[in-house]
Amino acid sequence: MNAQPKASHFIDGAYVEDNAGRPIDCIFPATGEVIATLHSATPAIIDKALESAHRAQKQWATLTPVARGRVLRRAADIITARNQELSELETLDTGKPIQETLVADATSGAEALEFFGGIAPTINGEAIPLGDDFAYTRREPLGVCVGIGAWNYPTQIAAWKAAPALACGNAMVFKPSELTPLCALKLAEIFVEAGAPAGLFNVIQGYGDVGAALATDPRTAKVSLTGSVPTGRKVYAAAAEGIRHVTMELGGKSPLIVFEDADIENAVSAAINANFYSSGQICSNGTRVFVHEAVHDQFVARLTERTARAVIGDPRDEATQIGPLVSAAQRDRVLSYIEIGKAEGARLEFGGSVPRDFAAAGFYVEPTLFTGVTDDMRIAREEIFGPVLSVLSFASEDEVIARANGSDFGLAAGVFTKDITRAHRTVAALEAGTCWINTYNLTPVEMPFGGVKHSGVGRENARAAIEHYSQIKSVYVAMGDVEAAF
Ligand code: NDP
Repeated sequence: MNAQPKASHFIDGAYVEDNAGRPIDCIFPATGEVIATLHSATPAIIDKALESAHRAQKQWATLTPVARGRVLRRAADIITARNQELSELETLDTGKPIQETLVADATSGAEALEFFGGIAPTINGEAIPLGDDFAYTRREPLGVCVGIGAWNYPTQIAAWKAAPALACGNAMVFKPSELTPLCALKLAEIFVEAGAPAGLFNVIQGYGDVGAALATDPRTAKVSLTGSVPTGRKVYAAAAEGIRHVTMELGGKSPLIVFEDADIENAVSAAINANFYSSGQICSNGTRVFVHEAVHDQFVARLTERTARAVIGDPRDEATQIGPLVSAAQRDRVLSYIEIGKAEGARLEFGGSVPRDFAAAGFYVEPTLFTGVTDDMRIAREEIFGPVLSVLSFASEDEVIARANGSDFGLAAGVFTKDITRAHRTVAALEAGTCWINTYNLTPVEMPFGGVKHSGVGRENARAAIEHYSQIKSVYVAMGDVEAAF
């Protein structure tokens, strides 16, 4: 199997190689096979990427918003037409099942480009009457924005950052996670094919040091990171030094609350999606499933029964529902949390091991279900980022809200109930940036997405993202004479 791109980086409209950079082996997580070897960006590559982005941004910002939007919409069309090929690559890059990547990755990126391409011409300032005088505002681009991605949704993350950035007239230099370097290069190719000026969206590879170099460069106006809280802290601090704008999309330990009047079958479906989709490698996952004591046993029985039916397999097979984790390190981390859960006294109801058929190769972990989990356990407090679901039992609304909020994270939350007043009351009390009522993990581009507390700052998607990729210039216009004291 070979997924070697033409070169490691895509800068100024073309593939670029610099073999002096540290090698990055791209591994297919289902087999452990090396499918491509790329190189980390050297200082010369970083400089070239920022320089060409700087140049392209100046040109791009002079286009009319309609012309900019058109390029984004064309890119969306190209992605949609190539969805099969891009999804296959995403599956090789991440190990996620093809049945997921066909519907959730390139397609989601295309929707972001379509949405922001569509609203680009509506990104306006305002007129402010001041008696005879008036003021107006101009909504201007920030300049060169840096995007740094995690490995779970490489195409989606790159597109969710690029689409609002470019719609506002910025350029972007994007650094994918070194675990999943391939897909963002395709997005860069597609932008050029769609008519973007060379250099508008550059992709360079690298480890954390490359991200750090980009985040601290004086040419960088903004850094948008999708990653863990510890990395977020470092990148936020680095950006602060230069008073740069930031968007931080970080981790979570989100609650999914199932009240006693919930539709149990739907709540079980949501718990499955919120913990086992993408083998649990989703930041907004509802990993603390709070179930009312009156329906606890019924819920756990159905969840166990349905989880036992999950098809674990080769992610390239369309029948596969659960693929491997992204890396051996991530598998080992997840397995170690499972051991911690057992040692802490949680009850292992299902899973907990490497599936027998996949012990020889690949980075698989069974979908795993713990019950009897209490708030103080590490498996209930720390982000595992794998297919590990914890069920916690509760007795009252006030209690569950307090316990759900008892976390430094605040990315997302879900509530299942048929009582509409309780649904809205609970959601209003939850400390989370994104909430779902009677569903989980749907993130349409029309709806803002992001976290509160340690889960992040800023918002991606929807009009809200425009605020984070543009700045306002106020202009006061005097219509009369200037008065002075003397
Ligand atoms: P990391 O935080 O380890 O890395 C994120 C990115 O930052 C990678 O590209 C990484 O490079 C880079 N990086 C690492 N150190 C630095 C640094 N000092 N300066 C600049 N860049 C740096 O996250 P993971 O890739 O492990 O992804 C998993 C995490 O991402 C989870 O915590 C998850 O919750 C979060 N996440 C959040 C989402 C959200 O929208 N809120 C969505 C998806 C994931 P490299 O990998 O090469 O080290």
